[in-house]
Amino acid sequence: MSSLLIRNATQIVSPRPGVLRGPGLNDLSIRNDLSILIRDGHIETIGPDQELAATHKGAELDAAGKAVIPGLVDAHTHLLFGGNRADEFALRTAGASYEEIAAQGGGIARTVAATRKSTKSELVRQGVERLDRAMAHGITTLEAKTGYGLNVESEMTMLDAMTELDKVHAVDVVPTFLGAHGVPKDMETDAYLNLVRSMIPEAAKHARFCDIFCEQGYFTPEQSVSLLELACDHGMLPRLHADQFNEIGCLEAAIELGAVSVDHLEATSERGAKLIGQSDTAAVMLPGVSLFLDISFAPARSLIDNNCIPVIATDFNPGSNMCLNLPLMLSLACMKMRMSVGEALCSATQNAAHALRLDKVGCIEPGWQADLLVLDTEDYRDMFYFYGENHVHTVIKRGVAHARH
Ligand SMILES: [Zn+2]
Repeated sequence: MSSLLIRNATQIVSPRPGVLRGPGLNDLSIRNDLSILIRDGHIETIGPDQELAATHKGAELDAAGKAVIPGLVDAHTHLLFGGNRADEFALRTAGASYEEIAAQGGGIARTVAATRKSTKSELVRQGVERLDRAMAHGITTLEAKTGYGLNVESEMTMLDAMTELDKVHAVDVVPTFLGAHGVPKDMETDAYLNLVRSMIPEAAKHARFCDIFCEQGYFTPEQSVSLLELACDHGMLPRLHADQFNEIGCLEAAIELGAVSVDHLEATSERGAKLIGQSDTAAVMLPGVSLFLDISFAPARSLIDNNCIPVIATDFNPGSNMCLNLPLMLSLACMKMRMSVGEALCSATQNAAHALRLDKVGCIEPGWQADLLVLDTEDYRDMFYFYGENHVHTVIKRGVAHARH
């Protein structure tokens, strides 16, 4: 029986348990000057220090002067890919257009080529480095998508690497099969979709979710429904990259499928926001992409005011957001998307865990998984306000403390 006592936290701040929408997003539980007893990876009790410390014999962590919040859940990343496109970033800052970079062999085609050359052990090694960075920023669970292999061998290698990473790293990795991320340059769309369909039975052995890039010039809503229905038949849950650049009917497709989430939504209209708000499909917003590409932000205010389930994630990927700093994304959500601090916190904890269908993750309550962050400040709002800094002092993952300092 392993145990850990977090002593005298100045603030313990948590969303309420359950799927959070509307005013529930601002109804945080804030408790002061209490201790948290963790046993065998779960929160056992929250109470006055003298009561808990009197009988406790295991490890301790002094949290006086510090705030404790749930571990962050990053519900949308493209964690694994080969190569490095820093040179393209530099070209772009010097004025080169996307087309010019693509003409020089850059862009996603370059990442696909590099990923196809990567062995499983290379992907795992890179994955561990990236998960270390994610965890340093307070991420305790992370969803990861395939989609840079775009052939059977490489897509399956990515899934194998994710399964391995989940075993070897403290951060939980939740795999998503995104074979339909794009069409490889040497294939027609229909032929490639047939290939993706053929991968689904094997992918379903590793991946909890199946995703597709539903967008003009990529895959249509009809193609998305057809592929995701097949994925559902094999036990995967559907989700979609939707409304990133154009509203082409992806939300209707998602709702027809009962998708767990629609992700991106930069181009979503008021009508689209109403549609999602009437469903149980979560709205995953990715402010880092808007910053990185200098495009509009998802209409968070309209989505939340229409009763959507908001989630904020990094969308870490080499082409449109090379960043694993989820707290920075939450500050952007507050500053650029007019989300409140409470809405932002719930969007990367309880609601993000719900979008990944995780049980008892994302709240600080007895019986819940002990994924917690001890911040180096006594006011949790500093994480949003004093932005660009890393306020994580200690990450607790399943009851095990990982110190940052
Ligand atoms: Zn994405």
